[in-house]
Amino acid sequence: MESSENFLKESGIRPTSTRVLIWEKINEVPFAFSLTDIEDLIPDIDRSTIFRTLVVFEEHHLLHSIADGSGAQKYCVAKSEEEQHVHITCNICHHTYCCKSLLVPKVEVPEGFQVIETSYVIKGICGECSKKISKYGYDGRQ
Ligand SMILES: [Zn+2]
Ligand SMILES: [Zn+2]
Repeated sequence: MESSENFLKESGIRPTSTRVLIWEKINEVPFAFSLTDIEDLIPDIDRSTIFRTLVVFEEHHLLHSIADGSGAQKYCVAKSEEEQHVHITCNICHHTYCCKSLLVPKVEVPEGFQVIETSYVIKGICGECSKKISKYGYDGRQ
């Protein structure tokens, strides 16, 4: 298996120990994460270092950011992002996931309109939360 250090090097990023650590941590998170989530995971590294590292990863296309409507900028690991894919977000646990196999459908935009970015987010209730609801009931609060 390729080491994180080599992977970062091949991606054009100087693999400092901090970057390697952050890269490994974010790869353990199964859903899209915010800066605060990573800060909680690695409390010894300060927030601005984590932020700068995420920016470096994003610039090298190892991450992409997602606006899921939660107000917090979220990121998810995507080693290659050739095509725009759908994101799903749970209204109860607020976890957002990448659905890399679901591509954003092509839509016709009005003539003269230039698309810069497309965001396709499906909101709902994830499987885990559905299970809890059927067990304990859902009182409508988030
Ligand atoms: Zn959920
Ligand atoms: Zn994604």
